[in-house]
Amino acid sequence: MLKILKNLKKIRKKITYIKNKYECSQQNIRLLAVSKFRSISEIQTAKLYKQREFGENYVQESLLKIKKLQNIKWHFIGQIQSNKAHIIAKNFSWCHTVENEKIAKILDKHCFENKKKLNVLIQVNIRNKYITSQINIKNFKILIKKILILKNLNLRGIMGMPYKHINYNDQIKSYKNIKPYFSIMKDLHSYADTISIGTSHDIKAAILSGSTLLRIGSQIFD
Ligand SMILES: *Cc1c(COP(=O)(O)O)cnc(C)c1O
Repeated sequence: MLKILKNLKKIRKKITYIKNKYECSQQNIRLLAVSKFRSISEIQTAKLYKQREFGENYVQESLLKIKKLQNIKWHFIGQIQSNKAHIIAKNFSWCHTVENEKIAKILDKHCFENKKKLNVLIQVNIRNKYITSQINIKNFKILIKKILILKNLNLRGIMGMPYKHINYNDQIKSYKNIKPYFSIMKDLHSYADTISIGTSHDIKAAILSGSTLLRIGSQIFD
């Protein structure tokens, strides 16, 4: 368990180091601890060391943890199944993986019923080499406008999950469309403030590509 504290300290140091070295110290970067497959006591340990935001991928697994643990902001970062969207709306503060209007509407409806708001990110496709094609940008803009109409969702930004690359240059390449996507969103919605990119393997590339929310699992818990 001491390991988790050490890891958190190391990661926070690393983020500060990168921010200073590459002159992005104004970039507000938060650390999301990805706790899928991790036990309640592992999460409690990270919490002891002032980690307050945790990310979960699986609805069923996360419910047990959410019921047991208080004072945590839970982020849903997994694939959304429409028949479980109501559970996400009810139990999470953030949802990173909104990809279509149908899911957005279900989330909005259940937030309304539970008298709560949900921060949402649109998951942009950075795995497909054709992403800059007009049609995808067009659909992205349409989805932004549709979500902005929904009163119980706070559209906060975008999320990206590239294929895993070991090589730094490939990591940078895989994130090259993140900033263009974000600026399209900012044009339509100036309150957008969140870019959720970066995992244990590509922290530096993610920060230099604009990340404001790093999703780190193994480097915290392993
Ligand atoms: C598991 C997961 C992460 C964390 O990955 P690590 O390599 O363990 O840091 C980040 N984002 C998503 C969507 C994940 O599923």
